[in-house]
Formats: sequence, C-alpha cells, structure tokens
Amino acid sequence: MKDGWIRRVIKRVALLRYKIDLGVMRLALKWRGQPRFQLRGSCEGCGRCCENPSMQVPALVFRLKSLRWIFLSWHRIINGFEYESEQRQGYIFMFRCSHFDIESRRCDSYESRPGMCRDYPRALLYQVRPEFFEECNFYAVDENAEAFRQALDETDLSPEKIAELKKKLFLNDQGDGPLDV
Ligand code: SF4
Ligand code: SF4
Repeated sequence: MKDGWIRRVIKRVALLRYKIDLGVMRLALKWRGQPRFQLRGSCEGCGRCCENPSMQVPALVFRLKSLRWIFLSWHRIINGFEYESEQRQGYIFMFRCSHFDIESRRCDSYESRPGMCRDYPRALLYQVRPEFFEECNFYAVDENAEAFRQALDETDLSPEKIAELKKKLFLNDQGDGPLDV
C-alpha cells in the first residue's frame, strides 16, 4: 500500500538517522581499507532485489524477544516489510515487501523507500565475495583488477583458465567506471 504523509514523514526522519549511521560506519571501514571492491554497472529496474529484501541484524536483536519484536514491528508498520523467514547463520531476516508490485515490478512508494533500498547493492561490496542476483546489472571489480589482469595475461595458463580466474577474482571490467560507494 502506498505510503501516506505520516509514514513519509517518519521515514524521512529514519532515513536521516540511517544515513548518519551508515556514513560513520563506512568511514570507519574505509579507514580499515574496505571495501576492496568497486561498484560498476547500473540499475535496469528488474525488481529482483525487491522480491525478498533481507536484513542482517546484531545477535541481540535476533535472539532477544523484545528487541526482535520491536525491530520486526517497526519494519512491518513503517516500511511495509512482512516477516517471511530467517537464517540463524549470520542473523538474517527475510521479508516480503508490501510496496512491491509483482506485475509491474515497481515500488509503489519509491520516493519514500527506506535507506537500505537506496543503498542497495553497495553493502554487497563489503562481503568477502560479493554476490549479486543473476538478473542484476551491477557487478563488483577488485580495486587492483588491472594489475592482476596483467599478471594473469603474462602467465602460461590457457585462455579458458585465465577467463575463469578473472571471473572468480572479480577482475572483469566492462569499462563503465567506478560508482560512488
Ligand atoms: S537487482 Fe539490480 S538491476 Fe535489478 S532492480 Fe535491483 S539493483 Fe536494479
Ligand atoms: S520499499 Fe520499494 S524499493 Fe524497497 S524493497 Fe520494497 S518495493 Fe523495493
């Protein structure tokens, strides 16, 4: 259901807090040399990432009933995320988004979408191996891709093996330049 003005105002405030938290956290990670991947590509609007949004939470939120209830209630009432399932490993909640229209594959409240939707898929760059949806037009490139590519091209490995390694090591670059993270 499309957001009314009350939800839009609440989400605007929540977005500000989210941006501050994210900015501080990413600054700290940058100081530690992360991420080592750069984001490339663009959004083609396939809607795959809206089918089942997921969120990793701190262990306490996952395990403590009261915190868990507050967290899930907030996302249900404010963001329209209906709890679907969970993954104990990594403390991940999976949702169904009530704003996502399966037919048109569009968000009915795009202007007031939560911070995590706006940030997607940047968070993937902080994984050991970024995993994008098959349909997604974004991809990750290792920050030292060029040097690694050159080193690989100078080896005696077969072209097939080199191609396989380039894919596995995130060295393939379609030349569309890095995006802001
Ligand atoms: S999966 Fe990727 S291309 Fe598709 S809507 Fe999401 S960000 Fe855009
Ligand atoms: S709020 Fe909108 S952008 Fe976010 S998951 Fe739902 S449909 Fe997608």
